[in-house]
Amino acid sequence: MSSDHRLALDNCIKCSICVSHCPVARVTDKFAGPKQNGPDLERFRLEEPAAVHPSIGYCTNCKGCDVVCPSGVAVSAMNCRARGEYVSMHGAPLRDKILARVDRMGRAARLAPSLVNRLAGLRPLRPLAEKMLGISAAMTMPRYAQKTFLELYKPQNVGDTGRKVLYYPGCYVNYNAPEVGLALAEVLAHNNIRVEVEQFDCCGLPLIANGLLDTARDQAKKNLAKLQGYINRGYDIVTTCPSCQLTLRQEYRELFQLNTDPLHEKMLDVFEYLSVLLQQGKLVTRFEELPLQVGYHQPCHLKAAGCGVPSREILQLIPGLRVADLDAGCCGLAGTYGFKKEKYAISQAIGRNVFNAVKELGVRQVISECGMCQLQIHHFTGVAVYHPLQVLAQACGHGKWLAK
Ligand code: SF4
Ligand code: SF4
Repeated sequence: MSSDHRLALDNCIKCSICVSHCPVARVTDKFAGPKQNGPDLERFRLEEPAAVHPSIGYCTNCKGCDVVCPSGVAVSAMNCRARGEYVSMHGAPLRDKILARVDRMGRAARLAPSLVNRLAGLRPLRPLAEKMLGISAAMTMPRYAQKTFLELYKPQNVGDTGRKVLYYPGCYVNYNAPEVGLALAEVLAHNNIRVEVEQFDCCGLPLIANGLLDTARDQAKKNLAKLQGYINRGYDIVTTCPSCQLTLRQEYRELFQLNTDPLHEKMLDVFEYLSVLLQQGKLVTRFEELPLQVGYHQPCHLKAAGCGVPSREILQLIPGLRVADLDAGCCGLAGTYGFKKEKYAISQAIGRNVFNAVKELGVRQVISECGMCQLQIHHFTGVAVYHPLQVLAQACGHGKWLAK
């Protein structure tokens, strides 16, 4: 389906299914709703770009509306474009410009990560940051790693399977959770596959979510050109962050009309990649026993990617491991959304079903592919949350993240 067709507002049959599935409209009346902000107002925006409802800032870009729309309307892309129009007319607050540049914050934090982590957790400073910038004093800030993934990664000597894999780690893994990238390298080495890494620009999702589309478009073009170079040289590209992948493969096309067709064939979530190996009978399934139960939370952007839950297919091969699906909807953080003072309570209300499901299940450990979902679930439940790759790496004999 072409992006123009998906965006075409005339396809909207006004069934309001998107409204009943929108997690934001469910918990607050501050958001006019997906249909109202999307196809309804888009009709006017084609004539008059200023026809943007200010409540557009309350959409989390979770893409739940796209998933349920029976007519295939890309409601969330309409909303992103509308937010971009609103920001280009009215400007973005300084807070949003700061939060949108997770890449710059990561690079700055590298100078003194321990100090940055200490300052970010210092109780007297948080109310000040809330008052001056509008960053919620209650929300846990992501911690920066002492070294980035790109600094820590060392290519491993493995047998030659003829497979060439490039890893796009994304900002969160590179600056905050390098252990996830290292787990990926261990899992692929277990399968005799060597991983190439490269310095990329941020995928641009935080910029898109904050309406800063021009900068996001520039980054999109640079990333696509670099990825195309690897595809031309015969590489498969793997990701571990569903939001990065969705942005690279879908948002670039729907928002910026860039050709992402090569990525649709060659870029896979790492568990999709491992599932292909499994189907071909080439996955090394020599796993250590892990006698434990974990809860699983599916990120909204993985659901929107439409590839199912490939991590569960692979993890069920680990002897002793029991994975219970929380099946409780959106966690509510939505990248930078839940860090904003006026949205923290909404974010908490959206995620309440997930937090209750964790408590009802009684697990001590949860897994989820998205770093922001991990942060939110840990923040509101206190349980440890990992990437499914860390479980798999542990079953391959590397790392001891999960307690047995
Ligand atoms: S992207 Fe999510 S929050 Fe935004 S309108 Fe759609 S369902 Fe609602
Ligand atoms: S679900 Fe799709 S067709 Fe139905 S109101 Fe929403 S955008 Fe229109």
